[in-house]
Amino acid sequence: MNPGIVTVSYIGATILFILALGGLSNQETARRGNIYGIIGMFIALVATIAGVTANIGILVGGLVIGGAVGLILAKRVQMTEMPELVAILHSLVGLAAVLVGFANFLGGSHHSGVELTIHDIETYLGILIGAVTFSGSIIAFGKLSGKITGNPMLIPGRHWFNLGLLVASIYICKMFVDQSAAGHGGGLTPLLIMTGIALLFGIHMVMAIGGADMPVVVSMLNSYSGWAAAATGFMLNNDLLIVTGALVGSSGAILSYIMCRAMNRKFLSVIAGGFGTTSGSSASAEEGEQGEVVAMEAHEVAQLLKDSKEVMIIPGYGMAVAQAQHIVYEITKALRAKKINVRFGIHPVAGRMPGHMNVLLAEARVPYDIVYEMDEINDDFPNIDVSIVIGANDIVNPSAQTDPNSPIAGMPVMECWKGQTTVVLKRGMATGYAGVQNPLFFKENTRMLFGDAGKSLDEVFKSL
Ligand code: NDP
Repeated sequence: MNPGIVTVSYIGATILFILALGGLSNQETARRGNIYGIIGMFIALVATIAGVTANIGILVGGLVIGGAVGLILAKRVQMTEMPELVAILHSLVGLAAVLVGFANFLGGSHHSGVELTIHDIETYLGILIGAVTFSGSIIAFGKLSGKITGNPMLIPGRHWFNLGLLVASIYICKMFVDQSAAGHGGGLTPLLIMTGIALLFGIHMVMAIGGADMPVVVSMLNSYSGWAAAATGFMLNNDLLIVTGALVGSSGAILSYIMCRAMNRKFLSVIAGGFGTTSGSSASAEEGEQGEVVAMEAHEVAQLLKDSKEVMIIPGYGMAVAQAQHIVYEITKALRAKKINVRFGIHPVAGRMPGHMNVLLAEARVPYDIVYEMDEINDDFPNIDVSIVIGANDIVNPSAQTDPNSPIAGMPVMECWKGQTTVVLKRGMATGYAGVQNPLFFKENTRMLFGDAGKSLDEVFKSL
C-alpha cells in the first residue's frame, strides 16, 4: 500500500481511538465509543496488513488462529468470568512485547552508535515491561478466578527484594547495551537474565497484593500492557502502535489513580505490595462472636419494599454471579410504578473489574439517571427506608471505618447501615473477596435474605 495512504489510515485510526476513549468515559456514549474503537482497529489492521510484503502466509495463518481463538473465547466467556478474561488478555499483550523484542534483537540491527544504544534500550524496556505484564497478569488471572488465594503473600524483606531486582535490572541493562555495541550478536545472555528477573518481579508484585487492593492491580496491569505495546511500537518503528499503546497506558494509569482514590490507597504503596495489608490477624480477630443475624423471608422483604418511599439498591459481585440484574430491574419498575423512589448506588470497586456493575445494569437496560456513584449518594442514607444489598460484602463493610487493622481499613464504603433497614441478599455467611467478616450483617437494623440472589429476587418479585 502507498505509504501516504498508510499514514492517513494511521491518523484516522488514532483519531477514532481517541473518540472511543472519550465515548467510553460516559455510560450514555459508551456504545458509540465502542463502535469508534472497532472501526479504528479495523482500519489499523487493514492498513498494517496491506503494508506487509513478505511472509504473507505466516501473517494470514496467525490472523486466522488468533482470530478463531479470540472469537471462541469471547463467545464462551460468562459475564462473571470477564475480569479473568481481561487479565489473561493483558498477559498476551505482555507476551507479544517479549516475543517481538527477542525477534527484533535476534534479527540484528542496522543501527550504529547512539541510534543503536537507543534502539537497544527500547528493546530492553519493551521486553522488561512485557515480561512484568505477562507474569503479573497470569497471577492476577489466578487470583481473580480463585485458582490462587486472594491473601497477600508477604515474604520477609520484600521491599529490599524489589529494590534488589530494580538495581539488578539497571545494571544488566548497561551490560546488555555494552555487549550489543561490541557486536558479534552479543547481549543475549543479559537479555535472558533480565527477562527472568522481570517475570519474577511480576509474580512477586501481584502475589504480594491483598485481595482488597486487586482493583488497582487490574487497572495497573492494563496500563502496563499499554506501555508494553508502545515499547513494541518503538521497536518496530510503528507510529500507530506507539500512539495506541500510549493511550492505553495513560488511560490505565488514570484509572489506577481513580481506583486508588476510591479505595483511599497510595498508588506506590499498592504496587510496592503489602503496604497497608495485614496477614489477616485482625481479620481473624474480627471473625469472633459478632452476635446473631436476623433472617427474613422473600414475602416479608416485598412487604417492606411496598411500605417504603426511598429504596437504595447496592449491587455487588454476587449480583454478577446470580445474573440478577434483569430481575432487579423488573422489581425496580414495579416499585417505581407504585411511586417509590428507587435508586442504585455503585461502589467504585464493586464486582471484579472497574465498571462491572454499570455494565450489568446497562445490559439489563436500567436507566442511567437512577444509577449513582457512591460519592453522590453516600450522604443520603439517613433518608433511605430500605437498602437492598445484592451479593455485596466488602463494599458495605463498616469495619473499613472502625477497624484500623482491617485489610480494607480506610476504604470508603456504602454507609447503608445509616438508613432505616438494610436487607442483605447472599447465600450464606461467607466473607467477600478481602476475606473479612462483616459487622453489618449483625446490626440491629439489618435483615438477611439467604439464598441465590436471582432466586430470592424472583420470589420477592412474585410477592410484589
Ligand atoms: P465481595 O466479593 O466482597 O462479596 C460478594 C458476596 O456475594 C459474597 O460475600 C457472597 O456471599 C455473595 N454471593 C456470591 N454469589 C452469590 C449469589 N449467587 N447470590 C447471592 N450472593 C452471592 O463483593 P463486593 O462487590 O462487595 O466487593 C468487591 C471486592 O472485590 C472488593 O474487595 C474489591 O476490592 C475486590 N475486587 C474488585 C475489583 C474491581 O475492579 N472492581 C477487582 C478485583 C477485586 P455468599 O457466598 O455467602 O453468597
